[in-house]
Amino acid sequence: MTDICRFCGCELATVVADLGMTPVSNELRDEQTAESRGQTFYPLKAMVCESCWLVQLTAVQTPAHFTEDYVYFSSYSISWLKHSSDYATAMINALDLDGSSLVVELASNDGYLLQYFKNSGVRVLGIDPTANTAIHAKQQYGIDTVVDFFGTELGRRLAGEGVAADLIAANNVLAHVPDPKDFLGGIPYILKPDGTFTIEFPHLLHMLESCQFDTIYHEHFSYLSLLTVEAMLEAFDLKVYGVEELPTHGGSLRVHVCHEGSGVADEKLARGLEKVRQNESERRLNCAETYRRFAAEVERRKFDLLDFLITAKREGKTVLGYGAPAKGSTMLNYCGVGPELLGFTVDLSPHKQGRFLPGVNIPIRGPDELLAARPDYVLILPWNLRDEIAEQLEPAREWGAQFVIAIPEIQVF
Ligand SMILES: [Zn+2]
Repeated sequence: MTDICRFCGCELATVVADLGMTPVSNELRDEQTAESRGQTFYPLKAMVCESCWLVQLTAVQTPAHFTEDYVYFSSYSISWLKHSSDYATAMINALDLDGSSLVVELASNDGYLLQYFKNSGVRVLGIDPTANTAIHAKQQYGIDTVVDFFGTELGRRLAGEGVAADLIAANNVLAHVPDPKDFLGGIPYILKPDGTFTIEFPHLLHMLESCQFDTIYHEHFSYLSLLTVEAMLEAFDLKVYGVEELPTHGGSLRVHVCHEGSGVADEKLARGLEKVRQNESERRLNCAETYRRFAAEVERRKFDLLDFLITAKREGKTVLGYGAPAKGSTMLNYCGVGPELLGFTVDLSPHKQGRFLPGVNIPIRGPDELLAARPDYVLILPWNLRDEIAEQLEPAREWGAQFVIAIPEIQVF
């Protein structure tokens, strides 16, 4: 079967990373199923379109419920909430938002971001397909949510109901929608003529340069560059007027977008746009060879991690994990690391504690248990939060524990 580009429909021919067969990364298992039931594995392969340069997962038949779960952005990450609060403050100032303005967030989750706009007196509306997080948003923050998938049809319907946004935020959602064309097609309907649409996404350039192959997982359909995002927006008479580079998720972009022909402008953001355009052009993101080189780098990371874990084991050292993110699931499944090499991992989120990482069946416990077990090494799976986590684990230094990350390459510190 030939794979077709999710955006432009061209045939895909170049493999970016083939991670074999893995289960759906957010499908954590409970104790009973982990012990007695099998689990379905799906191909996990990223390819690049040589026409629009969208890096994307090949089409895989996954269970029907699969796309209903937008990735749950844990309100438990302190740095993520700070990031969200800073964004709200910056946008309120830049766009002069007040009580007459409307901010719409796509994939608004439990209201973690919109709360900051609401607290400043700005009107807000969330859109999210997950009913239980919408209830949470209402109960905890008084935020109204349209419980649905955003796309062209919903955009048209909301416009008919009078929704017109001064600001639309799509933070870390564009990469997670299976049909980016349908998603972006809804924007022009609900964006005011002089409104701003911001999109945040992990920058493909960093994935390639720092070998962040573990950001590839089934719920993450697209891996975006500015090059591709500009091409996509153009199809809907939208244009990028500014770009910010962010440290989140191992290096992200925040792209500021307006209607083609609108007068919205910002000198500083425009300079950022030129800089990133130039970086991408210098790193040849529009060249198939750039993507082919990535595959060999991915394999080397697997050998390095296994080498470290096996050596530690033979020396009688204990290695435990920290975090249970989707990227941890990709990493451990691709490398074939089970509880024999990584006894258990811990996570702050009570939703994950007591469950098991999919595929590899590694138990997830509370952080206290990590401290009680006094391991020699702690493998930090969300390497993008390494400093925050190392700080939380400072007490482990007392018995000489060292911390380990596998991306961009194996590092013990
Ligand atoms: Zn394409």
